[in-house]
Amino acid sequence: MSTPLMQAQGLIKLFPVGKTWVPGSGQMLRAVDGVDIAVEQGETLGLVGESGSGKSTLGRCLTRLYDLSGGTLTFEGQDISALSRRQLRPFRRRVQMIFQDPASSLNPRRRVREILAEPLAVHNIRTPRDLPGRLAELMDLVGLPAVYLNRYPHEFSGGQRQRIGIARALAMEPDLIVADEPVSALDVSAQAQIVNLFADLRERLSLTYVFIAHDLGVVRQVSTRVAIMYLGSIVETGATDLVFETPAHPYTEALLSAIPVPAVGPAVRRRRIILQGEIPNAVKPPKGCKFVTRCPIAQERCRADRPALRPLADGRQVACHFPREETP
Ligand code: ADP
Ligand code: MG
Repeated sequence: MSTPLMQAQGLIKLFPVGKTWVPGSGQMLRAVDGVDIAVEQGETLGLVGESGSGKSTLGRCLTRLYDLSGGTLTFEGQDISALSRRQLRPFRRRVQMIFQDPASSLNPRRRVREILAEPLAVHNIRTPRDLPGRLAELMDLVGLPAVYLNRYPHEFSGGQRQRIGIARALAMEPDLIVADEPVSALDVSAQAQIVNLFADLRERLSLTYVFIAHDLGVVRQVSTRVAIMYLGSIVETGATDLVFETPAHPYTEALLSAIPVPAVGPAVRRRRIILQGEIPNAVKPPKGCKFVTRCPIAQERCRADRPALRPLADGRQVACHFPREETP
């Protein structure tokens, strides 16, 4: 197999919490707790999980907006886990992040023209002579008329603002885009349009995406592969249709049984599992399997030893001692 575009191994991100000002009393919150994931060239990897499961933190680790607390991260085979700010510069351009709320990441005092031109200047991507043409091209890519270059962010709808956020990311000519809930703040019709735009751009520009969302319907629609997160760990990952149609991890099953059947396709072999209780505290995750406190099929073994992510015969990976049967 070829080298993955990006690969994380044993990735860890801890946040100090509690009375950090009292020496010795500080605790560590395990936001990302030993994640192994490979992102293959050209795929859309959907990252799913309840709020607080560590999706955004993982996204910020992958883009190296955060320093890592442990593990390794490679981009095209190059280890970027410990690169300094300066050493990260070439990487910064090639991996872009898009956020949920473009309004908060677009400077309200600047016209779209300046918002898009700034990264080009900083990274020396275009000469001033090519600039007008490139700006018009970027607007065209995201489906906005070039005259809108003269507008300010507040003059746009939510969907249009997200298009500008996407154009700004595209200005850098990235290979990988990590999109953190990019459509969650939009109304349903704008969501559908932006989802289509992502798909269209992936084709046209041979992009690779990590697409973070809590909306399973959206994730199913955009992703070629999915990874399900729970309390800082990946509990199941595999081809989207496989995981949605025959979830192997009881947590995946629980997540899927919370949405109406039409959104996830035929309800073959699906039990209805209602998730009890809340996500445990990530400062003190359960010993053994992290899902043990909410799992309807937990056994003694699950309380004692933590299951590692391991491959099943059908190609997916699952972190469970008692996954659903591998063959129908
Ligand atoms: P998600 O995106 O899946 O909702 P997050 O990555 O935002 O999850 O958060 C994962 C965990 O890390 C949560 O328990 C959250 O409270 C905690 N967390 C996230 N960012 C910080 C931070 N900067 N400082 C302390 N704790 C944080
Ligand atoms: Mg988040």
